[in-house]
Amino acid sequence: MSPTTSAPAIGVVSKKTGVRWIPVIGLEVHCQLKTETKLFCSCRYEFGASPNTLTCPVCTAQPGALPVLNREALALAVRVAGALGADVAARTKFDRKNYFYCDLPKGYQISQYDQPFCTGGGVTLASGKRVRLVRIHLEEDAGKAIHDRGDMTLVDLNRAGVPLIESVTHADMQTSDEAYEYLTALKEILQYVGASDCDMEKGSLRCDVNVSVHPEGEGWRTKVELKNLNSFKNVKDAIEHEIERQIEAYESGDKSKFPVQETRLYDATTQTTRTMRSKEDAHDYRYFPEPDLVPFHLDPAFVEKQRSMLPELPAARRARYQSQFGLSAYDAGVLTSSRALADFFETTVKLSGNPKESANWIANGVLANLSDPAITAKSVDELPFRAHDLAELIELVANQTIHNNVGRTVLRGMFESGKSPRQIVKEQGLEQVSDEGQLESWCREALVGKDKVIADVKAGKTKAVAALMGPVMKASKGSANPQKVQEILLRIIQTEL
Ligand SMILES: [Zn+2]
Repeated sequence: MSPTTSAPAIGVVSKKTGVRWIPVIGLEVHCQLKTETKLFCSCRYEFGASPNTLTCPVCTAQPGALPVLNREALALAVRVAGALGADVAARTKFDRKNYFYCDLPKGYQISQYDQPFCTGGGVTLASGKRVRLVRIHLEEDAGKAIHDRGDMTLVDLNRAGVPLIESVTHADMQTSDEAYEYLTALKEILQYVGASDCDMEKGSLRCDVNVSVHPEGEGWRTKVELKNLNSFKNVKDAIEHEIERQIEAYESGDKSKFPVQETRLYDATTQTTRTMRSKEDAHDYRYFPEPDLVPFHLDPAFVEKQRSMLPELPAARRARYQSQFGLSAYDAGVLTSSRALADFFETTVKLSGNPKESANWIANGVLANLSDPAITAKSVDELPFRAHDLAELIELVANQTIHNNVGRTVLRGMFESGKSPRQIVKEQGLEQVSDEGQLESWCREALVGKDKVIADVKAGKTKAVAALMGPVMKASKGSANPQKVQEILLRIIQTEL
């Protein structure tokens, strides 16, 4: 941002015409709820299970089968509403959304049309901008049609009836970065609340984007829906591509090329979008009330109970880590990126009594090891040691039993063997050596033939002694107490040589 402007300019200035185009972006996110059973029957759901094994007469739409609402799904949905600051409706109902597709045996999806269980709410971005939610509704997932088997289409109904919440934002975003940040924040909240694992690779979080552009000062134009976005990065790339495509289309002046209301599929390999179908309007689905599920009132006590079960949310934790522990905004952000990581950090702080070092060892040491392909553990849930062990490591460094650099070796050993830091230090003889006699003999060895350094130090450039630290640390396999080594080196040079 240039220091002379008070607010960052929004939009994209066309190189061709100089027109400033303002993008308008809204997101619809479908998220599978982590319930034991499906939304209207008692089937379990497990990603990757053998096709059509997790089904029953209800989710395969056998004649006469009746849906029964899963109370746990409703509870999780209400908890999400609370976490997003949304209003839970006093009365809600389900509707049939009618369309035909081979993965939808009923010929309709049970969803919510005009009386969703929740309206309003939103997510606040780091800039302070609020991305508002229009609504969140509950619905069932469809099955899965698999088209890539030659001339066959296979249908797996395991996913049919899995509970989803669909959250719809207002078109409040203007850049792909805002969309990315919104999605990241939403995902964090859904995971903190325990509503979903939000694993895009397993399809438990799916995102559709609506994008339009208009010249600054003019009204909104036709929006285009983008689908098939299976990572947040794809969402970002697809939005950028689509903004560019729409501006080019308008600036061509050829009305036949202007964006039309349609759904486009994003192809991540070519980074382009192509028409999938013209977008349906709500009336195309002929929504009508689901006759097998009566409208119902949400008991305020039930809603209140769900709210009371909310954990401290990521934004609140970030703020607290900065005020209570004096961490930087960056470190607070890293440590709260998942609830498991934040919990691990807090336990380590409690056990070590050292928030800064706990943050440092986790944000740098633990996370660096987790992202190393040579390490088996991939997330904090898979760590082969506990917060207790990390607190012990922090203590060993703090009381100078081991040097900080040796601490890193010990941490690596903890990842590799799951052994306690004390045990690793003992087995590998890593304890810091402060014994004067031993240190002195390493120092004398290191001084042999180092006349230039010796001369420099004698001339008053005591910093030159740093060149001897490496050899001493090497000779001691990192176990020498560096402060003492420096003192001894200076003493020998200044008094004996
Ligand atoms: Zn079922």
